[in-house]
Amino acid sequence: MTTDGATSGVPAHLAPLIERAEERSPGASGRVFPTVGPGLFEALRDSTFRRVALQVPAGLTRQAREFAETIRTEGRVDVVLVARACFGACDFPSPDEVPGVDALIVLGHSPIPNVRLTLPTYFVEMRHPGGDANSLADTLVTHHVPSPLGLVASVQHLDLVAPLEAAARARGIELVIGQGDHRLAYPVQALGCNYTSAEQIAGRVEGFVFVGTGQFHPRGLAFAVDRPVWTLDPLTGQLEPPIDRAKLIRDRLLLIAQCREARKWGVLVSTFAGQNRSPTALALIRKARARGLDAEALVFGRLDPADLLGRDFDAYVNTACPRIALDDSSLYPRPMLTPPEFLQAIGERPLSEYRFDTYH
Ligand code: SF4
Repeated sequence: MTTDGATSGVPAHLAPLIERAEERSPGASGRVFPTVGPGLFEALRDSTFRRVALQVPAGLTRQAREFAETIRTEGRVDVVLVARACFGACDFPSPDEVPGVDALIVLGHSPIPNVRLTLPTYFVEMRHPGGDANSLADTLVTHHVPSPLGLVASVQHLDLVAPLEAAARARGIELVIGQGDHRLAYPVQALGCNYTSAEQIAGRVEGFVFVGTGQFHPRGLAFAVDRPVWTLDPLTGQLEPPIDRAKLIRDRLLLIAQCREARKWGVLVSTFAGQNRSPTALALIRKARARGLDAEALVFGRLDPADLLGRDFDAYVNTACPRIALDDSSLYPRPMLTPPEFLQAIGERPLSEYRFDTYH
């Protein structure tokens, strides 16, 4: 953690703010140039930024005003709050959404290296310091998990990875780490749209252990890899049993089967920098039309189920965040598939080969 006398007044629960602030600038070529800063507040004080926009995840909206006030005071910069919460490092505001702003601060996410930025952006990961590696490794032993196991973690708990790996090894359990592809900032990391760190090692392990909280990533992993996925909650120390992958896939195949008669397809395309797959959408439209189906692109920023009410489509294929179709499709007035599922529905891919919609 950065030691910085000027930040000594920061309340303890905001301390993660001054850790690991990482600035990325768009750069002339559109490539990103990461520089790990000495801490968010110091970086802001040393900058020429007059106004920054702060975006927080939905789980932190109650504290957003307090975060803004702290950044304003400690960073000596004007702060505007972005009302739209971020779901990932993929949906930060465009310059048009935050006019007059010199830089962005995105809380709770690591950068997505292959997403082009349009403003200098600080991703503040807010790593959690909790979790006892030895007692968590004891939990794995107590539950007789197989070895080797693949290890996957949310960004908040990445600091636990090395000690947990060592503690498990000392107890005879090998934890294997995958590097992942260019959408991941770290090896071992999970993104809800990209589990390539797990996919790369799936053939070498008996299953996976996900270190983190909630069901979002275990569900995504279960879609992505045909291996049991245990969830190890570093805060409670509980090990959750694998979720029923067969049922997840069965439910999706039922939905795909329902869509086989669909004639009019809406192809959903997001304008968010890290969710825009226009080339994929165009390729899907071409494939649908080649099979005599109607297909039309529908462009949006954040998708609201009300936006799809009253439209003349039989079904949708969503090229934006894959988790909208996988986790929230029941909220929408018509069935919604991912691109690989769409290809199964129109007969381009066999039903027997279910594939997770990995966003590369
Ligand atoms: S596309 Fe979806 S899963 Fe991927 S980072 Fe964005 S919100 Fe998360």
